[in-house]
Amino acid sequence: MPRPITATINLAALTHNLGVARAHAPHAKVFAVIKANAYGHGLLRAAGALRAADGFAVLEFDAALQLRSAGYAQRIVLLEGFFDRREAVEGAARRLATVVHSEEQLRLLDGLAAGARLDVLLKINSGMNRLGFAPDAVGAAYSRLQEHPGVGKVTLMSHFADADGARGVDWQLTAFERAATGIAAPRTLANSAATLRYPATHFDWIRPGIMLYGSSPFAGQSAAALGLQPAMTLASEIISVCTLKPGDTVGYGGLFRAEKPTRVGIVACGYADGYPRHAPNATPVRVGDRLTGTVGRVSMDMLCVDITDMPEAGVGTRAVLWGEGNPIDDVAQAAGTVSYELMCALTARVPVIEQD
Ligand SMILES: *Cc1c(COP(=O)(O)O)cnc(C)c1O
Repeated sequence: MPRPITATINLAALTHNLGVARAHAPHAKVFAVIKANAYGHGLLRAAGALRAADGFAVLEFDAALQLRSAGYAQRIVLLEGFFDRREAVEGAARRLATVVHSEEQLRLLDGLAAGARLDVLLKINSGMNRLGFAPDAVGAAYSRLQEHPGVGKVTLMSHFADADGARGVDWQLTAFERAATGIAAPRTLANSAATLRYPATHFDWIRPGIMLYGSSPFAGQSAAALGLQPAMTLASEIISVCTLKPGDTVGYGGLFRAEKPTRVGIVACGYADGYPRHAPNATPVRVGDRLTGTVGRVSMDMLCVDITDMPEAGVGTRAVLWGEGNPIDDVAQAAGTVSYELMCALTARVPVIEQD
């Protein structure tokens, strides 16, 4: 028997979740956001399940080329744009589309041959204050792109800072519309949260990411309530059982001290597999068909769960760290992070199983 940890990627769940995104924005095209190795799910694996998307969005130049080489003919956009002139020339030759978010990136297009027909997403800073042209610089940048003989279609783009939170999107929509006044180009603004909550942000293309993987962008609303299915299930098994007397502690630093006789299951999963080391006591773990919680500090290769009230649990019992039956959003919340970070942190040593 190999070490029992696996990450199961549910391909049907990915396809289903893309359908949920489409149902919310029936008049928009969809860029499926598969940056960061498809949020840890595997670039080409996720692309296969999401092949009905109108386009793909990635960060990494290599990922974009891999998608082209794998035969995907739809739009493939680089969300941070080109990083040098070589990427601009090769990107145009491979028919990639690119974000242009700054003067420096505009100048990278200088070397493009006339007729290259590079599609550009012109990024507007509507209030996130990371990337993008200031609203009063957008008109000039748009004109330069339109006049460039190597540039094809131009789409206006912006990104929301708090579509999942209290501040919402109206303040950014206002800034965007002011910057885009008089420019008759397609628009793309919506991430998952805006796709689900704000139809006025859908415009021509939506850009859902996290919802495709079956996680909710909203703190107060579960993925299940949104009709989303978990795409990644990280599971392992109990490989040993320890019985504690009152006063005994578990693991490094003794962060858990038993107050009563306590049965502890040792699960073959640790931070070297991608489980967060900072997860505190009582972070949810599904053991068999019941939920319990972690005890003690997560170590490199192991974590511990309380199975005192689960006499049926023992060596060989399945433990779901997140996914099916243990929503990743609950685990992330307990660990003081977000599902994005957990998914992306899955490490290469965890064997992946694809489930249709
Ligand atoms: C990552 C990303 C998205 C997707 O965001 P989610 O919150 O995962 O839906 C959309 N647009 C841009 C520019 C991004 O970088």
